Amino acid sequence: MPYTTTVIIGAGQAGLAMSRCLSDLGIEHVVLERGKLAQRWRSHSWDSLRLLTPNWMTRLPGFQYDGHDRDGFMSVPELVAFFERYASSSEAPVLTDTTVQSVERSGSRFRIVTDRGAWSASSVVVATGYCDLPAVPAASRRLAPSVRQIVPSDYRRPEQLPAGGVLVVGASSTGVQLADEIQSSGRQVTLAVGRHTRLPRRHRGRDILWWLDQLGVLSQGVDGVQDIERSRHQPSLQLVGRPDHSSLDLAVLHDRGVRLVGRVRDIDGDRVSLADDVMVTTAAADFKMAEILIRIDQFIAATGAAAAPPEPFNPTWPLAARTPERLDLKDERISTVIWATGYRRSYPWLRIPVFDARGEITNTGGVTPEAGLYVLGLNFQLRRNSSFIDGVGHDARMIAQEIAQLTARARVA
Ligand SMILES: Cc1cc2nc3c(=O)[nH]c(=O)nc-3n(C[C@H](O)[C@H](O)[C@H](O)COP(=O)(O)OP(=O)(O)OC[C@H]3O[C@@H](n4cnc5c(N)ncnc54)[C@H](O)[C@@H]3O)c2cc1C
Repeated sequence: MPYTTTVIIGAGQAGLAMSRCLSDLGIEHVVLERGKLAQRWRSHSWDSLRLLTPNWMTRLPGFQYDGHDRDGFMSVPELVAFFERYASSSEAPVLTDTTVQSVERSGSRFRIVTDRGAWSASSVVVATGYCDLPAVPAASRRLAPSVRQIVPSDYRRPEQLPAGGVLVVGASSTGVQLADEIQSSGRQVTLAVGRHTRLPRRHRGRDILWWLDQLGVLSQGVDGVQDIERSRHQPSLQLVGRPDHSSLDLAVLHDRGVRLVGRVRDIDGDRVSLADDVMVTTAAADFKMAEILIRIDQFIAATGAAAAPPEPFNPTWPLAARTPERLDLKDERISTVIWATGYRRSYPWLRIPVFDARGEITNTGGVTPEAGLYVLGLNFQLRRNSSFIDGVGHDARMIAQEIAQLTARARVA
């Protein structure tokens, strides 16, 4: 059985950043990937998807975007090519088409069994992704079998859907993009709006993420927030990356004919019961956005940063003052439900008791209670942007330091 100091599981941005940081410290390792490099992006993205983070934010340890369109948004093929260049520039030791089937303790080491043989290692970094599996509400099981239900990772383009209307559940970045694309294809879309984080694409003449970067919001650490669990469960940013830098919010969708309804409460066959909460949800999102924009304006005033004049702020809530409390999918000719309701994680192959009651890996900044076992790429793991391309490098460096110390201690012992 071959031995290496560290086995990294997963060759997405987290696994590749980890590999680069270990190489920089001269720590021997291998990256095991069940598919190809950046497999998640290759197989779980829809055709028109572009990053919502601008190109200048595509920064990883020792490597960053160096093209001419710093303010543009990469398509998935461009991103995959970027990761391929990163892996080859780092000479990352990635073994593709190698699925990890089990990880368990074996004395002072770990035994990692794959479908292409077993490895022994002193440390393991789990980098299998925060957006691992779709989180679909239990009510989906009560949906009439005649209605097709899919999750965003299986969606590619509108033509793949059966004829008829579409109910998109969830109004974060994915939900609004799919609602817009499908409505533009000529189908009637109904969007069930849950909690979301509304943001304009641009503010005062700059990309909103540029301002948040300047303010240090994205790199804010776990100690800087009052309730870290609440911050970890905040809905993702309602942003899209389009060549025209346009915003995509509920007002835009409403203008394009998308029908806005409340949160899905329950389902019984063709009948969907809805909460009467759009006004409250959108007012909360508007309020949060106004707070952020005011912080940016205060920053501009305090620093004298060059900025365009403020644009008017349009509240969303008057659009959805009255919404139905029930939807009959048959009557409405809705043939598809898309669950854009977030993600969960599952680690059936990790045979080490490090899980909390919700099945998440217990960790502090990626360090688990099991000596030598680490996790990387979780939401707000050390900083708000821990699961972003731009943030994972910071956390990878910290874990690399931990592994270096562990390795040094083992050598002395
Ligand atoms: C739709 C969408 C859009 C996003 N847009 C942005 C954006 O614009 N900007 C941004 O910064 N972030 C964005 N993110 C967030 C984040 O960047 C991605 O989720 C990214 O894929 C996370 O990278 P990762 O390396 O942590 O995990 P992943 O990319 O999920 O990589 C994990 C890897 O582990 C492999 N794996 C899993 N199990 C095993 C196993 N048992 N054995 C071997 N290999 C295994 C998988 O095949 C996969 O390649 C987006 C996420 C989603 C879902």
